[in-house]
Amino acid sequence: MAVLVTGGAGYIGSHMVAELLENKIETVVLDNLSTGNREAVLCDRFYEGDIKNSSDLDKVFSENEIDSVIHFAASSLVGESMSNPLKYYNNNVCGTAVLLEAMIKYDVKNLVFSSTAAVYGETDAIPITEETPVNPKSPYGETKLAIEKMIDWTARSSGINYISLRYFNACGAHKNGRIGEWRTHETHLIPLILQYSRGLRDGFKVFGNDYDTPDGTCVRDYIHVIDLVKAHTAALVYLKSGGKSEIFNLGLGNGFSVLEIIRAAEKVIGQKIKYTVSERREGDPAVLIASNEKARKMLLWECKIKDPVEIIEDAWKFYLKHPKGYN
Ligand code: UDP
Repeated sequence: MAVLVTGGAGYIGSHMVAELLENKIETVVLDNLSTGNREAVLCDRFYEGDIKNSSDLDKVFSENEIDSVIHFAASSLVGESMSNPLKYYNNNVCGTAVLLEAMIKYDVKNLVFSSTAAVYGETDAIPITEETPVNPKSPYGETKLAIEKMIDWTARSSGINYISLRYFNACGAHKNGRIGEWRTHETHLIPLILQYSRGLRDGFKVFGNDYDTPDGTCVRDYIHVIDLVKAHTAALVYLKSGGKSEIFNLGLGNGFSVLEIIRAAEKVIGQKIKYTVSERREGDPAVLIASNEKARKMLLWECKIKDPVEIIEDAWKFYLKHPKGYN
């Protein structure tokens, strides 16, 4: 039996595929390559197609014996979702509805869904548990929450079992340097710092240094992408051994400030990183740290990589091998 990875050409999806292959699990990828990279997909069974298109799903499910789906395919830029919300409702919510219909049609029972800490919005809770009230502040977070609920209602009537995983700040790259974090439109801290250091960007700004944090810059929970994808494998094991549907936070359970990340990057690169301090970015809370206790206990999983220097070393390896990103 095989696992279908939707969005397997994206940043986290491509690392998921590598992890499944390393565990000798048959893997099939469906991706429309709107933001993903074919070069990042390390498995042979690749379908270029769209989850919104039921005939693409028919082809994938009828040509392969799939018993589980790990669902990453989505639009995932917070800023873009503010200016183009309907793109997010269409791709994320409508797309997942079509995927769920196909899962029911082909009697596929196990689903791991890629959700986000953005469902919590601007919370003061430290750490954030799965019980922290949800309050998304963008169509991106709102659509991920809508999907979580749609999956839950569908699961109740269809016999699908699911795990929704709310990611904090995914970062780092595969240890082999072959795959990593690369987007045409980049907004994330670590890739921006690395691209700036490689001369691919004109400047780098720290968004606000007047937050109520030890050094005034925002604190986030940076989880290595390899630890993140290993939690998905643990979620599949959990579902296949009869575990019931659940939601889990995925984070390191510890936070680092923007300046701490800059210092860690300087150690890895061996050069000073020049930055300017600008206004706060709209919607950025001071501190976002996950409680990962529930995932540790129920999925028997833990974060192994705890040092931002190791995370950035791995991300840097990818940049050294791909000076201009994927082709
Ligand atoms: N950040 C920054 N400069 C940038 C990009 C991000 O100072 O050019 C900060 C941002 O304000 C946040 C942290 O880095 O505090 C992580 O931001 P990112 O966009 O990577 O992830 P988010 O936490 O927004 O999901």
